[in-house]
Amino acid sequence: MQLAAAMARLGTESAFEVLARATRLAQEGRSIINLGIGQPDFPTPPHIVEAAVKALRDGHHGYTPANGILPLREAVAADMRLRRGVEVSPERIVIVPGGKVTMFMAIAMFGEPGVEIMYPDPGFPIYRSLIQWTGAEPVPIALHEDKGFAFSALEVLNKITPRTRLLIVNSPANPTGGVVPKAELDRLVEGLLDYPEVAVLSDEIYARMCYDGVPHASLTAYPELEHRLILLDGWSKTYAMTGWRLGWGVWPEPLVEHATRLAINTHSCVNAATQWAGIEALTGPQDAVERMVAAFDRRRQVIVEELNAIPGFRCVRPGGAFYAFPNIEGTGKTSRQLQEELLTEVGVAIISGTSFGIHGEGYVRFSYAASVEAIQEACGRIRRHLGA
Ligand code: PLP
Repeated sequence: MQLAAAMARLGTESAFEVLARATRLAQEGRSIINLGIGQPDFPTPPHIVEAAVKALRDGHHGYTPANGILPLREAVAADMRLRRGVEVSPERIVIVPGGKVTMFMAIAMFGEPGVEIMYPDPGFPIYRSLIQWTGAEPVPIALHEDKGFAFSALEVLNKITPRTRLLIVNSPANPTGGVVPKAELDRLVEGLLDYPEVAVLSDEIYARMCYDGVPHASLTAYPELEHRLILLDGWSKTYAMTGWRLGWGVWPEPLVEHATRLAINTHSCVNAATQWAGIEALTGPQDAVERMVAAFDRRRQVIVEELNAIPGFRCVRPGGAFYAFPNIEGTGKTSRQLQEELLTEVGVAIISGTSFGIHGEGYVRFSYAASVEAIQEACGRIRRHLGA
């Protein structure tokens, strides 16, 4: 068999590989604490589950429109109004099986040999993987620990060339938990006015997980960007629905047709019952979300304190999501060495910073979507292992 050359350019997401190895070790009887995978450790709230069951009982068994059922797109539009203060026509919303699919569509739409796509580094590994797959050149935007892992707008703008087609922004971010301050977004948007041909993909999948009373700053709040901004959001993280596969994109009007066509050529539509569950999630009670976010916030305080007590570790307080990204240079080990050692010798699954790009060397990612006890036990094991 002769595969297309592009297949060799596809990367992967190490979190899934580490999860598989951690599960195997646990099955062999090892005590493993998994702080590797990025998904809430809560079940989907029961009223959302019931809405899906009811949809199945009510006979929602067939294909739906490729861009999603209208009541769901209307619910998303209402959510955009409520939480981001922006008016979006349901016609610009495309429902997809997970946030990742909006990412795939946007990168596939703009990427081809000879063009450049900018993405955050350290960042979600699929950005770079998909950019490479299209043949476009991935241009990393460095995120800085001393800025709380935000980018510098000036640095971003300086990297734009006549070949730049798409800029990817992610705040709050995976893997750092970093939040880009509104002032930095202001500077970015102002600077982008000089580059009207550059489209922007704003991955705001962690928008509901912002801490310290700082409201989420969304790029959708800038009307001057609306005609070239793609918003990525979804249900996976906010409603503990990672396995349901449900996300939404808000597209500039001329791109909706292309996104819909990509949907028709790949998945046809999202599972119908899941879409009805999505309506219940957005329009039903939000107390479960508030409880989850409050729990993440408590764990955030615990993990930052615990990590800073490990010799050789230094951890800034993440402003959002459920990740901590400590600097581990003081341990004298590479990120990959530390990931391997902690998994095999200590029984703690974390992810090497290098899985998120070249600027991830010297860091590791902890997901704190785990109980306070698990976090304390994991950090205790690491502290003892590193000799404190
Ligand atoms: N964007 C970021 C930054 C993520 O961390 C993730 C999942 O980890 C996604 C998108 C994809 O989310 P989904 O599971 O809805 O495809």
